[in-house]
Amino acid sequence: MIKRRKPYTYNSKTRLGLVVEREKFDQLIAEYACSKGACLKEEEPLQDISKIFGSDYKPDSYYLLKTGKNADNTIKTRYLIGADGAMGKTALLAGLRKPGKGLKGWGMSRVIKTKSKVAETGTSKFYPLPSLGGMSWSFSGPDWTNQGVGGLFSRPLMLKAYRKIFHNNLNNSNPPFWPLPFLGPLQKSASGNLLLIGDAAGLVEPFSGEGLYNSFKSAILAVQAVKLAKKENTAAEKTYNYFFKKHFRKNFGACLCGALLLYARSLIYPSSLPHSIAILMENKQWFNHGIDSSTVYRDDPVFDNIADR
Ligand SMILES: Cc1cc2nc3c(=O)[nH]c(=O)nc-3n(C[C@H](O)[C@H](O)[C@H](O)COP(=O)(O)OP(=O)(O)OC[C@H]3O[C@@H](n4cnc5c(N)ncnc54)[C@H](O)[C@@H]3O)c2cc1C
Repeated sequence: MIKRRKPYTYNSKTRLGLVVEREKFDQLIAEYACSKGACLKEEEPLQDISKIFGSDYKPDSYYLLKTGKNADNTIKTRYLIGADGAMGKTALLAGLRKPGKGLKGWGMSRVIKTKSKVAETGTSKFYPLPSLGGMSWSFSGPDWTNQGVGGLFSRPLMLKAYRKIFHNNLNNSNPPFWPLPFLGPLQKSASGNLLLIGDAAGLVEPFSGEGLYNSFKSAILAVQAVKLAKKENTAAEKTYNYFFKKHFRKNFGACLCGALLLYARSLIYPSSLPHSIAILMENKQWFNHGIDSSTVYRDDPVFDNIADR
């Protein structure tokens, strides 16, 4: 079934993105947030949200969060942004998602450290796996390579493909796959002053499986929505729903059709895969053409006249 194991590359004239180690990237973001005044609480997972308001929103309502391994801490907050990923609890506790529901992709990757410098730093290789609705990849950093596989169907077959492509038997283990939720634009993403962003909101790009771009984009939109809600003394969901519809829902049908067509293309012409991804990353695919990548949303007309919406 998994016949094509040849990687395909595409040389872009422009910089399409950055290849970074995820651990370092997350660490940098956390440090940056703390430098701007955030208070990082580690080893204190969210366990429960004991007061939830939605339609009965009142400006002086608060959420009470139970946190810690034994839920022995309480945090009181007026606004709550759920950024706890595809396996997070916020969306479930708020009743915005049901456990285990919804079609999603799955991905798994390994970072292979090398002692010598990797010859192809910055190169991304893609191995099409259209029959599994996905692909395998290899991204190279200075002295490491990230090798992974992702797709819609059959995790055992994805693992088999990974082993074959990278000649890596994974020490005979079955490493876990992580969800790649992409149907969020069709679902509710806010209730009262509780807003979901990133994977918690299901914003992974359906073809490439990338989720970081939309995580940052939705984070910026959520912060803007909270600022406006404070100013107007309204529920943040009002503005966030407007942003969500405009930036994620409106174009989602086209994104899904685009993803299907790109899969079909990679089935017929496997060599087209890296080019398809490059154009997608440049926001130049017909279905995402013109999407603002500057992430400046302050000029959005909603800010001029929020009371009308
Ligand atoms: C194998 C694989 C490879 C990928 N490669 C790419 C890529 O190359 N480019 C790209 O753009 N995207 C990629 N993605 C997708 C990308 O990783 C996600 O879309 C992105 O990480 C989503 O960010 P997030 O902040 O919403 O969620 P996450 O990164 O999942 O972060 C959620 C955080 O919440 C924490 N958390 C969970 N539950 C609780 C709780 N109860 N209390 C407190 N904290 C909690 C978690 O510990 C975690 O730190 C990949 C995904 C996979 C699975």
